[in-house]
Amino acid sequence: MGRARHWREECGVVGIAGCAGAAELTSLALHALQHRGQESAGITVADGHTLATHKRMGLVADVFDESTVKVLGGTSAIGHVRYSTTGTSNLRNAQPIQVTSHRGSLALAHNGNLINAHVLRRLMEQEGSIFSTTSDSEIILHLMARSRAERVEDALAEALAQVQGAYSLVVLTKDKLVAARDPLGFRPLCLGRFQDSYVVCSESCALDIMGGRYQRDIEPGEMVILGEGELASRRLAPRGRERRCVFEHIYFSRPDSMVFGRNVEKIRRRCGEILGREAPAAADLVCAVPDSSNTAALGYARAAGLPFELALIRNHYVGRTFISPAQKVRDMSVRIKFNPVAEVLAGQRVVVVDDSIVRGTTMRKLVKLFRAAGAAEVHLRIASPPITNPCYYGIDTPVRKELIASSHSVDEIATYLRVDSLRYLSLEGLLEATGEAEQYCTACFTGAYPIDFAEHVEKNVFDLQTETREVPAPAPGGERS
Ligand code: SF4
Repeated sequence: MGRARHWREECGVVGIAGCAGAAELTSLALHALQHRGQESAGITVADGHTLATHKRMGLVADVFDESTVKVLGGTSAIGHVRYSTTGTSNLRNAQPIQVTSHRGSLALAHNGNLINAHVLRRLMEQEGSIFSTTSDSEIILHLMARSRAERVEDALAEALAQVQGAYSLVVLTKDKLVAARDPLGFRPLCLGRFQDSYVVCSESCALDIMGGRYQRDIEPGEMVILGEGELASRRLAPRGRERRCVFEHIYFSRPDSMVFGRNVEKIRRRCGEILGREAPAAADLVCAVPDSSNTAALGYARAAGLPFELALIRNHYVGRTFISPAQKVRDMSVRIKFNPVAEVLAGQRVVVVDDSIVRGTTMRKLVKLFRAAGAAEVHLRIASPPITNPCYYGIDTPVRKELIASSHSVDEIATYLRVDSLRYLSLEGLLEATGEAEQYCTACFTGAYPIDFAEHVEKNVFDLQTETREVPAPAPGGERS
């Protein structure tokens, strides 16, 4: 299918405490969070005595069916959908990660990236620790296992005091569910209710699907301990300036979600409106690169006083498709996914709105499709600033040199893409749309990283250190303890 048009999504997490049918509700929630990771899905349930985990490579619908969730049962559960940010994509890195330690069985599901995980792991391995995954998330379980604290929440607090980076996570024991968010709040995590039970999830759309109610965000630096209808909260760090990932609003999160306490659709639409104000174009119509840019394009069209048209149709049902090298040369990878509507485009001056440009290779092919469909002019408007730096906090980005804006001016990019004009939303415009400029991470646009990191850290850092060869995933069957 060629390279992704966007940065890959990260992960989605959910936890439900003290509720009959916990596995079923968790699988529903994972369906709603599917956009955050499509490589693997998993659920761990607790019934007051034991934990049971079922996880597989694939989409939620492939991993869980009616009988699987029925067999899992449980009265509390955590769930995870994964796109790998550290560690390769394979079953042993799928989450939740369930382990057994002196404090009994524990399971963890994590969204984010720990920037000092490689240092901690090397130290622990030198001291004799044995790791079973190449995921940074396993470090937290090891640190918890080493803690002498009696209560799981105290052990988790000790572990989290030693890690740096981004985490929104849930931990399950046989009788407790604990959720925590890093002090800078890079990744979202919200709290809601389903009937009398508490639910934590990456985005509020996971609450909507089960008929739950959004209550508030888990605060950056907050830990919540959930039991049957009970919630206790404690602070892991004093509340200070936050560094929420602004890309959650630009692209990652669903527009119907509340993320960082704000509706994503509203912010995305506002980005389009401000872009329309900052970068108008003499054109006949506005269209989006669906689906992630629809809302911004609507905002742009409204601000520019131009009609919004569905001029590019996306095929939602394309899975893995074999394309021969010869076909790739003829841009088949983009044609399979997108089809322009010639009847709408013929002879028209078109504004195409997209949410971001990473490498530019897909957009170049799309522009070619627009021209072939008869567009008289193509004016490209991007509803975020140029991406010049990679992310180290849980988003799988290409290395800097592959980001087209890291080494090319806007004019050079316009020439490469063969558009009549190209304009990006300004950083000020983006932050104006969020309404809380000071609280966001914008490092991929500015290079101003909120936490120092070792530049050489790679996504597969632990795989590079291991001599283990991955074998294909085993036949179906759960992991239980
Ligand atoms: Fe989000 Fe960019 Fe910051 Fe990464 S660097 S957390 S993608 S804003």
